[in-house]
Amino acid sequence: MARYTDAVCRLCRREGQKLFLKGDRCYTDKCGVTRRAYAPGQHGQGRTRASEYGSQLREKQKVKRYYGILEKQFEGYFEMASKRQGKTGENLLSILESRLDNVVYRLGFAMSRAEARQLVRHGHFTVDGKKVNIPSFLVKPGMVIALKEGSRSLEKFKANVEANMFRQPPKWLDYDANTLTAKVAAAPARDDIDLPVEEQLIVELYSK
Ligand code: SF4
Repeated sequence: MARYTDAVCRLCRREGQKLFLKGDRCYTDKCGVTRRAYAPGQHGQGRTRASEYGSQLREKQKVKRYYGILEKQFEGYFEMASKRQGKTGENLLSILESRLDNVVYRLGFAMSRAEARQLVRHGHFTVDGKKVNIPSFLVKPGMVIALKEGSRSLEKFKANVEANMFRQPPKWLDYDANTLTAKVAAAPARDDIDLPVEEQLIVELYSK
């Protein structure tokens, strides 16, 4: 699968905000956005005004980068969102938030979504008792996500869980720290998603 291989801090700097792509470094003074609060590249410090199209494009890029999704797949999610009842923009965020790699990250098993994706691919998680190694798997209310029995003693998970203890899992995930399992209590609502994005601009972009 194609993937972005350049320095990820450039993506945050381009969007002008932290997208938390690099794990614990994102919470330190070494964060690229903290150190250089302007867009990357030769003209980074000169770009100020954005056209209507430019603003819409930036919001789309921000969401794609936040969740680590490539263009084609993102279009597929948008189509899925537009077929659901309710506001398309909110549906889109709810779908992306329901990806298994995002759930693993939200539960604190991984330091970043990129790491979560890799851990899912390596088969460390189960959904309703069955191994699922597809990062894009969409969880639904009632499903139970668990760190596999055999993976619980791995130092990697112990370290990640300890380092992420300050991050509260979202309320749509009913997390049990003793069993390292979480039940999906509800589909994620807009209020549950802390990404500062104007999703309506993405809808406008695709409506053209
Ligand atoms: Fe983004 Fe994290 Fe890099 Fe900061 S350290 S610019 S939040 S990826």
